[in-house]
Amino acid sequence: MADKLIGKDKIGDFLKALMSKYTVVAPIERGDAPAEFQEIADGDTPVLDGSKNMMPPKDYLLPRHEVLVKIDMSGGETKVETPLPEDKPRVIMGAWLPDAQGIQVLDRVFLDRKFIDPYYARRRENLALVAVIPAEMRWSWFCGSVDDVDTWKAGVDALMYDLGDKFYVEVNSDKGAALLEGAPMSVVSDVDVAAKDKLWTEFKNTGLLPFAGKALYENLAWDDPVWGEIADKCIACGMCSYMCPTCTCFDIQDETCGNCVERYRCRDTCQFEDFTLMGHGHNPRSTQLPRSRQRLLHKFRYQHEQFGVVGCTGCGRCVELCPVNVDIREVLCRTCAEPMEQAAEN
Ligand code: SF4
Ligand code: SF4
Repeated sequence: MADKLIGKDKIGDFLKALMSKYTVVAPIERGDAPAEFQEIADGDTPVLDGSKNMMPPKDYLLPRHEVLVKIDMSGGETKVETPLPEDKPRVIMGAWLPDAQGIQVLDRVFLDRKFIDPYYARRRENLALVAVIPAEMRWSWFCGSVDDVDTWKAGVDALMYDLGDKFYVEVNSDKGAALLEGAPMSVVSDVDVAAKDKLWTEFKNTGLLPFAGKALYENLAWDDPVWGEIADKCIACGMCSYMCPTCTCFDIQDETCGNCVERYRCRDTCQFEDFTLMGHGHNPRSTQLPRSRQRLLHKFRYQHEQFGVVGCTGCGRCVELCPVNVDIREVLCRTCAEPMEQAAEN
């Protein structure tokens, strides 16, 4: 399908038509709280231009709390239920392209290996992804420094570029074409193509750091003093991994409710002391230093070794949200022996 334009004044009608065939998941504003990816309903006005996306779409695919098994023993009978998400076609709209790439990383963990996670798989299998390149880049992005962002387009079904009063829509798959069938769209002009290309170049060049294009996994050393420096600052709040679009750590707990037991999965992080605490009391990561090291080595080295992808998309959330200003960009510059100051010139 050729590239098309859709006016922002037509988005409401487009979403309405889409909702008759798909469950549409998009960022919804919640007062002062950051917009969150939720299933939208009639009358909702999701923010599709990427300007409010602090919460990642991971929250929809891997909910912060999810019941995996329910055991009901009331009435003298034992009933066991595994409440899988409904099997229905879904589309995630308005995810930043780096966050859509984050879903590719989640796929490697939950779908590509020997054990497929049925809860994640159910939400993912009939899912189309429509990503966005916002009109204004986020100051903390450094996507082009961690990967070749041109390759990320293959992971999305359509990509919308915000051109002010309209979106330029690039369709990348049959799924994407099916989504847009019948949408109130118009043909693109040379001026539109030039504006889209300009925005793409801006995205590619945002936050380019001196280590861009380097094999980061070759530069992260187990005994680098930088891990101790991060650990000295880190207060183990977990924010960097809870908000990261690619972090996947979870815990499984049981909770009783009368004659019923629920086994649920909830977010966890390698930054917490008890994440690796074993039943007999030994903890292989008993101080913050190995925990700080683990997060970065896992993202840039172990995931690359396991799956051939880097577990960081340069979305910048951890840079923006760390309460003690641990800056992953500085750490990567240090480990590659490059001065961070050069980044300011880009
Ligand atoms: S920049 Fe930080 S939050 Fe974003 S993907 Fe990389 S590690 Fe995760
Ligand atoms: S956000 Fe900062 S303080 Fe919190 S766990 Fe991550 S590095 Fe540590």
